[in-house]
Amino acid sequence: MADLAVQNLGKSYPTRAEPLVVLREVSFSLERGESVSIVGRSGSGKSTLLQILGTLDTPTTGLVRLAGQDPFALAEPDLAAFRNRHIGFVFQEHHLLPQLSVLENVLIPALATGRPTPEQRQRAEELLGRVGLSQRTAHRPAELSGGERQRVAVARALLLKPALLLADEPTGNLDRANAVAIGRLLRELQQAEQAMLVVVTHSDELAAEMQRRFRIDDGRLSESP
Ligand code: ADP
Ligand code: MG
Repeated sequence: MADLAVQNLGKSYPTRAEPLVVLREVSFSLERGESVSIVGRSGSGKSTLLQILGTLDTPTTGLVRLAGQDPFALAEPDLAAFRNRHIGFVFQEHHLLPQLSVLENVLIPALATGRPTPEQRQRAEELLGRVGLSQRTAHRPAELSGGERQRVAVARALLLKPALLLADEPTGNLDRANAVAIGRLLRELQQAEQAMLVVVTHSDELAAEMQRRFRIDDGRLSESP
């Protein structure tokens, strides 16, 4: 069984007329250490797929297996614990908390299970070093540039060593130089951590950095050779 297996995933929304079908029979699998990009025009279902992989939304049909489990068989709060433990997210917006320091922001995933442990603090500091922000750990997000804030978001996503790292247009708000840097960083850290990385992007440059390339057309996923 693959580390991430997606089988015949479908998602539709009820409307007054025909249901709106957003994802159609999406199937693929990933192993740890693999990276993939997903491209497709606006409205094609990219974010919906990422939200389902992230267990933030539920599929209408089909199966997802991650870390040997069917997450959708779990009830809250077990599902929230599963998500926190196994999945890291980087969004287009950084979603950092303005009142917390950079270091505290990276430690947010550790707060779900109580106070951060000394090992978790050490890991947060180490990750901030790897994203080039060792000198900025006590700063607030408002004191950082957009590119730096996104680096903090990357460190936060990796704190608990997730098996699966999901990024939805992570460079969408950045200039080209920062976009390239964040793309490299995501790939480097994903490789070092042997996580699976799924990146939704409009950037051909970022897409080309991933080992495998997928596209979505009208809810159907296909792999580019
Ligand atoms: P993308 O990220 O590729 O731009 P999305 O996954 O955000 O596309 O959206 C795909 C389609 O699903 C769009 O037509 C959108 O309007 C529709 N959609 C997304 N969320 C909902 C919802 N909660 N209810 C109804 N339709 C939705
Ligand atoms: Mg989207």
